Amino acid sequence: MKRNEVNKNDLSPMMQQYMDIKDQYPNELVFYRVGDFYELFFEDGETASRELELTLTGKNAGLSERVPMCGVPFHSVTPYIEKLVTKGFKVAICEQLENPKDTKSMVKRGVTQVISKGTVVDSDLLSIHDNHYIASLMDYNFLYVLCYADISTGSIFVIGLPHIKEKLISEILNLGILEIILQDNTDLELIGLLKGAYGIDVSIEENKLEDQYQNLYENLSDEHFKNSVKHLLYYLVIRELKDLSHMKPVEIVYPDDYLEMDVHTVRNLELIETLRLKERNFSLIWLLDKCKTSMGSRKLKNWLMNPLKKKELIENRYNKIDIFNNEFIIKDRLRNALYEVYDIERICGKVACGNLNARDLLQLKNSLKVLPEIKEMIHELKFDYTINTHNKLYELLEQAIYENPPITIKEGYLIKEGYNKELDELKEIRKGGKNFIADFEAKLKASTGIKTLKVGYNKVFGYYIEISKGQVKEVNKDLHWERRQTLTNCERYISPELKEKEAMILNAEEKIIDLEYNLFLEIKAIMKENLLELKDTAEILSELDALSSLSVCSEEYHFVRPTLNTEHIIEIKNGRHPVVEKVSNLEYVSNDCIMDPSINTLLITGPNMSGKSTYMRQLAIIIILAQMGSFVPAEVANLPIIDKIFTRIGASDDLVSGESTFMVEMKEAKNAICGATCDSLILFDELGRGTATYDGMSLAQSILEYISKNIKCKTLFSTHYHELTSLEHKISSIKNVHVSAHEENGTITFLHKIKNGAIDKSYGIHVAKLAGMPTELLSRADEILNYYESESKNKQKKGSEDNIQLTMAFEEEKKDNLKEKLEKIDPLRLTPIEALNILYELKELSIK
Ligand code: ADP
Repeated sequence: MKRNEVNKNDLSPMMQQYMDIKDQYPNELVFYRVGDFYELFFEDGETASRELELTLTGKNAGLSERVPMCGVPFHSVTPYIEKLVTKGFKVAICEQLENPKDTKSMVKRGVTQVISKGTVVDSDLLSIHDNHYIASLMDYNFLYVLCYADISTGSIFVIGLPHIKEKLISEILNLGILEIILQDNTDLELIGLLKGAYGIDVSIEENKLEDQYQNLYENLSDEHFKNSVKHLLYYLVIRELKDLSHMKPVEIVYPDDYLEMDVHTVRNLELIETLRLKERNFSLIWLLDKCKTSMGSRKLKNWLMNPLKKKELIENRYNKIDIFNNEFIIKDRLRNALYEVYDIERICGKVACGNLNARDLLQLKNSLKVLPEIKEMIHELKFDYTINTHNKLYELLEQAIYENPPITIKEGYLIKEGYNKELDELKEIRKGGKNFIADFEAKLKASTGIKTLKVGYNKVFGYYIEISKGQVKEVNKDLHWERRQTLTNCERYISPELKEKEAMILNAEEKIIDLEYNLFLEIKAIMKENLLELKDTAEILSELDALSSLSVCSEEYHFVRPTLNTEHIIEIKNGRHPVVEKVSNLEYVSNDCIMDPSINTLLITGPNMSGKSTYMRQLAIIIILAQMGSFVPAEVANLPIIDKIFTRIGASDDLVSGESTFMVEMKEAKNAICGATCDSLILFDELGRGTATYDGMSLAQSILEYISKNIKCKTLFSTHYHELTSLEHKISSIKNVHVSAHEENGTITFLHKIKNGAIDKSYGIHVAKLAGMPTELLSRADEILNYYESESKNKQKKGSEDNIQLTMAFEEEKKDNLKEKLEKIDPLRLTPIEALNILYELKELSIK
């Protein structure tokens, strides 16, 4: 039976109410509260029954046929909601808005919140290490504006991006956005990609927020940004009914403030997950994260994904790590104190729009307890943080919250004795009830003479006097006991006196629960007033945690403080790839990377498996670590500040549409070549190998030439085309290095050591041998290789002619340089010694 085929007027009043509510939430699964259950009807019921593997039943709704229905008990609803939300459904929770006892007509009901993938606030779905973002995307034809918020922590950001689809998708993937709200002008290809290829929940929504939450965006002057924020807020506030009182005003993200890395770079360098298994384990963040709080872990990840470019800001973090390294006793004390701190950010989120319970408040209290101690340590360390210790709030929680509260807030046991007089009095009555039972039992035993008589209580029948079957005849009619329950071996009665007491005690119980609930709401309201200040405190704690974690790393992994230069110098002595070093069973071979201002490109040759890509990744990781404010895995590191990192290492995935691997490779190379500046870092691993040898080699060479001539940025370029190594003699900024291997009796050992100069052997057959290829196949490969090698010797003469052609462009460049130099000389002003020097320089230029 379909919902839209039913005539509403034929339905029972309750189902009519359901239909009205469902009309407002056609795209959500409506969980309609009926007593102790949430019920889903019609298609929603069928979907829930299929997805949650629950029985589909029916409900009498006034029609000849029963309406399809699926029910979930209210006390265990969370896992069911989570399951549906994970699968991409949106859930609207429709509650009873009044106590059924207080009304004679039908209970009022209404949707109190909508939960979707991006707006989960209190559940196991939230990863403690990651932010949980929902975003709005506005397409202004010349500009994309992305506004993204984590409502579990209360932060909201806005960023303007160039109108380039790859860049937009890269940003969305790097941020890990789970749900995106679009306007109906968004192009279908983009929607398809976000939904289909990346599993992001997408919905199209209007943008008509009135005056709510202006405080969140009144700091913005740009209308495009403002509109984007309002679009997201409309969805959150109007469609999903979220309370955003814990949100801090929007922060504008200026992409230029941070080192730019696209999603390929983040993935290739395995910054937050490994390439193969897509797991946090064995990623760089896994190695670095020694945080004691989840707020710290999220902060550290944020720093890693957004390395800085301002020297002062970077060095500020170095300075703090240095202080931590020196003050290791305070650092340990601080980390022990941080260990006591819970996820204050997310507790704040729950206060505003989640199911806050007394355990959360207890966690908050325990977190606040250590703040005075932390404040003192901040002072001892001379750090520039001013932290609020929230003494009043702590006192309140200490006095009010019961030490061992239940998860629910509607069963009492939330509030401590001594906090509220009325509550204490009611509890006295309840306690009196318990004493009363013992006294009453003794009294009855004496008056009736029935020794086995018992007075007890159960939830269904209330208080009772229990008499064993054998003694029932002793119950005198004059006692006016009424029979309550018959069991196999006893009878249970109630007496007028017991009935009276029961009413009083049960009343007290009910009143206690109501009062405790109201007191809890009062405390929650006080907390709400403190949310923004609490979030400031959380921010400081997360920074302290992230910094102390970096300090622990610097000691544990022997990292060194980098020096930053503005002269385009890279000077790394004994650098290491920290994750390979940590994970590998073999000893890690450290390597230098020296590029003075005149050297921009290292052309790396060496056999497969020798460590070329590890060396390249190592440099990028050292730079990222340095710019996120961390010490780095090396003995000495003098580094320039890099503006963008481009990588083309290993297999990469195609962001936009199904193109061939080679096409994707070329597109990535194009992104690097067109996007890089002289302050960028490019890592190209065997570029061009996806096509025919000469094709690939020519492309590789022209790309190298182009970078050297037009971009002049630091570049690591690994290649199997040994022919390219001759470029070192023609382009002064290119230097050959190789990874050495040791060959003995046909067996090869990789030394993983980077050395100057080129290598002219590939050892491909040796690697195939290591991989366990059949011997017959290997010796045939040897034969073929010998043949090709002798052939190539014969062609060497012709080859050198080709080379002349290939390097012609550089002869031109050399001429230009000579001409430029000559033009600058004013012979009349030269001393003889200067003239001699210049002559020497000109000669050098001409032979380079
Ligand atoms: P290539 O890019 O030359 O094919 P890789 O960089 O992938 O080689 O390295 C192959 C393996 O060698 C890596 O998985 C790593 O375990 C090991 N390796 C690389 N560099 C080093 C090093 N400097 N010290 C120790 N082991 C290394």
